[in-house]
Amino acid sequence: MTANEINALVDRLREQRNLSDAEFKTILETDAYDAALQKAADEVRRTHYGTDVYVRGLIEFTNYCKNNCYYCGIRRDNRNVTRYRLTKEEILSCCAEGYDLGFRTFVLQGGEDPFYTDDLICEIVAAIHAQHPDCAITLSIGEKSRESYRKYFDAGANRYLLRHETADPEHYGKLHPNELSALHRQACLFDLKDIGYQVGSGFMVGSPYQTTENLISDLRFLQKLQPDMIGIGPYITHAQTPFANEKSGSLELTLRLLSILRLLFPYALLPSTTALGTIHPQGRELGLKAGGNVVMPNLSPVRVRKLYELYENKICTGEEAAQCRGCLEQRVKSAGYEIVTARGDVKR
Ligand code: SAH
Repeated sequence: MTANEINALVDRLREQRNLSDAEFKTILETDAYDAALQKAADEVRRTHYGTDVYVRGLIEFTNYCKNNCYYCGIRRDNRNVTRYRLTKEEILSCCAEGYDLGFRTFVLQGGEDPFYTDDLICEIVAAIHAQHPDCAITLSIGEKSRESYRKYFDAGANRYLLRHETADPEHYGKLHPNELSALHRQACLFDLKDIGYQVGSGFMVGSPYQTTENLISDLRFLQKLQPDMIGIGPYITHAQTPFANEKSGSLELTLRLLSILRLLFPYALLPSTTALGTIHPQGRELGLKAGGNVVMPNLSPVRVRKLYELYENKICTGEEAAQCRGCLEQRVKSAGYEIVTARGDVKR
């Protein structure tokens, strides 16, 4: 491969916002394109978003989960987890603290915990909305019925994050027990979009049994869904799961995919994730340089942070919200971008 050939393929990806399966396979399986991909992705991100980086305050409000995903540290069968739930008042005080720090989006994420009935979720969402009418409210609480999604929306939720995890049903079946299905999760995403949510999907990079073909299916699924946000991060092993002996995903492949996603979806909100920061000390800075434009610092009370352990060695579990925000501000600056105080809605 010559430099000309490399640049020609990356230019075509950028212009057509597409490639053939064979071309994706070539790009995904070598590091030869990485420099050109990153340069193009950064140019495209600057065209659409300048140097702006949006922050989302993440509130991990429950680590109870009724699901048993093989990769996840808070899966139902992990008896070593100390389980916790935040009250409405605790959640509201996280939001108030976040607001003062400049956060204008709050993300409520948790395991699938039936303790939080639809009524309770709506009550919490409505209370946040009443106190912070200028903020976006994002939910990330898993697969629910269309009716439930509608209720949360009517209560004031604007956005919903639900990674499809892997688009290929067979691969999905290797990561989840039988009661969960790829198609049901995908149907949820289309319901959410239909209702009017800004929708975020995404997948883990380097999850067990993942092939290049699986990753291409993920890209094809995203082209169908056209989500507003796409969250990807490396899969990271957790010892108290059935995947204890599996390898974690790689920094390089995650960065490569971030750049490809930026070129496929120029308008998209692409977080540089905590998982990326966990596998490499400069992971989040590198994620921004590869095309990311969102960071999601933790707003959860410090006493519960270590307990929301989806994977091992998760970073940012020791600091107060203000410290987290300050640290991230420096990191974003050092990468050449700027955190802005804004809701940060998608720019289609
Ligand atoms: N219950 C919610 C939130 C899940 S946690 C839901 O179902 O959407 C958020 C994301 O963390 C998951 O979608 C998954 O992609 C990621 N995750 C879970 N375990 C992980 C692991 N071991 N390594 C990396 N990412 C993981």
